[in-house]
Amino acid sequence: MLKPIFAANWKMNHGPTEARAFLREFLQQVPRSSDRTLAFFPPALTLHAVQEQLQDRHEILVGVQNVHHEASGAFTGETSVGMARDAGARLVLVGHSERRHVFGETDEQSAKKCELVVRAGLIPMLCVGEKLEEREAGQTEEVVLRQLEAGLSLLDAHHAGNALIAYEPVWAIGTGRTATPQDASTVHGAIRRWLRERVGDRALTMPILYGGSVNRGNAKLLLQAPDIDGLLVGGASLDAGNWAAIVTE
Ligand code: PGA
Repeated sequence: MLKPIFAANWKMNHGPTEARAFLREFLQQVPRSSDRTLAFFPPALTLHAVQEQLQDRHEILVGVQNVHHEASGAFTGETSVGMARDAGARLVLVGHSERRHVFGETDEQSAKKCELVVRAGLIPMLCVGEKLEEREAGQTEEVVLRQLEAGLSLLDAHHAGNALIAYEPVWAIGTGRTATPQDASTVHGAIRRWLRERVGDRALTMPILYGGSVNRGNAKLLLQAPDIDGLLVGGASLDAGNWAAIVTE
């Protein structure tokens, strides 16, 4: 079994002041441990405060929730991958369902983002997941594998093999409806088989995270299911005590 990854996606929550208070409380409750990997995806404006707070905890990874698909230019309000790296990000979320379905991010843009991220020496966490109507129409694997293939299409096998993958069924995000461990595990298995074709045996050690209404009650069961190597968590990662409990239990 791979060591589990617990990744907190704060979305548009926690400015620098709240983030500092969160981490002071969280770090007191979560001792250093080599049994798990922790990652935070704060808002871009909060990244620096998180970095400062984690000065003595280099084992905890920090990333941004999005970057623009061009390296630089006249894109008011956007963040480039170079800036993210300069600010201390090591990971970048790519293709989160809110980016895809609220902001219209396309598969092509996800691909360009993954390429820029890798070129910058950072690691993409590519998010894939089907909508409710796609699941009900029996298209889950088709949609997920299409997003995966497209997102990794500009990477060679080596870099594709270094990516992190998060399976997040859209209907489970922020809705309180979680995929059952069995359902999630089935999709993770399909992802792993596809990755094996694409990058070879490296796929066996590529972490595939599950996301979508993970909470204290279901986290452990999800992590026990085959091929679920970590959790990408929104709502349940916003409270320091709750998130500390999930990552230490
Ligand atoms: P949620 O969000 O845990 O609040 O469902 C997960 C995500 O969007 O990454």
